[in-house]
Amino acid sequence: MKRIIYPGTFDPIHNGHIDIARRASMLFDELVFVIAENPRKEPLFSIEERIMLVEKSMSDIKNVRVGSTSSLVVDFAKSESALAIIRGLRHVSDFEFEFQMALMNYHLNSDISTILMIPDEKYIHLNSTVVKEVSELGGDISQYVPEIVQLNLNTKFQK
Ligand code: ADP
Repeated sequence: MKRIIYPGTFDPIHNGHIDIARRASMLFDELVFVIAENPRKEPLFSIEERIMLVEKSMSDIKNVRVGSTSSLVVDFAKSESALAIIRGLRHVSDFEFEFQMALMNYHLNSDISTILMIPDEKYIHLNSTVVKEVSELGGDISQYVPEIVQLNLNTKFQK
């Protein structure tokens, strides 16, 4: 089975992430989201909440699963027998970070390829931080996130 993993913080998942996941899931037999537990980041949503939000947001796509890891992404990929890691590329500014990360991952495990994918233009400006800020300040985020994410953001910000 040709499997690809999609690592990230996903705090929370938004329509840009979903665009990449849909496209990649069509190219592979299975796509596994990997929610990264990064001790240096203070996420708004717990790991369990982020997993639930990804699962509900992707429930219409049958070949998508969700996992999490607090260790190296390449080790997770190996444990899943994945062939590749998919990452989204929004701007030139993303490139430098993604390029470094891809090269480091090749050093760690050269069997696992990195694929960088460009989303639909309408998602280029989206990131989880902006979504949270707009939601907290009472802005309309319905065109940026699935309804379940919007509801959970409203609960977090007590609206
Ligand atoms: P962010 O907080 O920026 O959304 P994540 O760590 O959750 O970051 O992102 C996980 C992956 O999804 C990364 O490869 C990132 O480049 C990609 N990604 C994030 N936002 C978008 C977007 N709007 N369009 C396409 N890919 C995206």
